[in-house]
Amino acid sequence: MTIVCDVCGKKGARIRRVTRSFGKGKAAFLIEAVPVVSCPSCGESYLTANTLREIERIRLHRRQLTKDRVVPVATFGGAA
Ligand SMILES: [Zn+2]
Repeated sequence: MTIVCDVCGKKGARIRRVTRSFGKGKAAFLIEAVPVVSCPSCGESYLTANTLREIERIRLHRRQLTKDRVVPVATFGGAA
């Protein structure tokens, strides 16, 4: 499925799903599978107004909507 690019108005833009971080410090959180429109004609990548609205909704309700995921981290202790 291709869509019309908001920036240059040409067809052929595609949606990629990416993980993005939002906010800073204690308020920081990740959203997975954020749809980013990327356009091969003008090289622009952007979020649609709809996506921004949904991100805002997630941000307001992030305590209910986020899952705590603990990522194991190892410390590299050897010499180079
Ligand atoms: Zn474009």
